Amino acid sequence: MADKSLVLVVEDEPRVSRYLRSSLQMAGYDVLVAPDGVKALELVQENRPDLILLDLRLPRMSGLEVLENVRKQHDMPIIVLTANDAEDDKVKALMLGADDYLTKPFGTRELQARIVAVTRRYRAAEAPSERATTYENQSLRIDYVARQVFVDNDSVHLTPTEYRLLVTMAENTNRVLTHDYLLAHVWGAEYTDDVHILRATIWRLRQKVEKDPTNPHYILNEPGIGYRMVRRETPPTSTSDNNPDEVEETTI
Ligand code: CA
Repeated sequence: MADKSLVLVVEDEPRVSRYLRSSLQMAGYDVLVAPDGVKALELVQENRPDLILLDLRLPRMSGLEVLENVRKQHDMPIIVLTANDAEDDKVKALMLGADDYLTKPFGTRELQARIVAVTRRYRAAEAPSERATTYENQSLRIDYVARQVFVDNDSVHLTPTEYRLLVTMAENTNRVLTHDYLLAHVWGAEYTDDVHILRATIWRLRQKVEKDPTNPHYILNEPGIGYRMVRRETPPTSTSDNNPDEVEETTI
């Protein structure tokens, strides 16, 4: 039998952390609680939790700072807990690498569903691949066996969700993928309304794989529809070539 998964709850309101602790324990998780951001970072280093539930409004160090610090070193799933009126915080958290969010107040079922979905996504990213061993698109390369991504032969570190999104786009190179398709395929069917999760993850991915993230070369917007990975040709070396596969970039 595998050990129980360890969840770190970072929450300063005792009423909320007690609620989270008891519902998670009932669902079979081991639980640690940090009442502030500094303590949270200590517990992450000491205990390497399998998942973090992170309130954004915390004493001593904000949840966003905790998130930024943890993401520099760790890939575990992070779900942020936000207030209803904190749309900005939610978007910032997603851009800093949060995997998902829960808006307070939320119920036990919603909490469970989000944990199960995030965990499933991480496991899927770790599953062995049946694809070709590598994907190459000009200076972008994915090594499916090593699960590594390279840009100009420099290794780029992606979180499991970013990796899964990139692979999904790569496997459908030159095809337009709708927001709904990407959300259902990478996150799960229950996420098809969460376009801002997708936008933030695309943003993060572009920061990592595009030379000019504001003027992307590989991952293009299809306004109002979704995104498309474009096949880029390696510049011809000896003979000149018309590059018949080159896709025209059109604005809609
Ligand atoms: Ca709080």
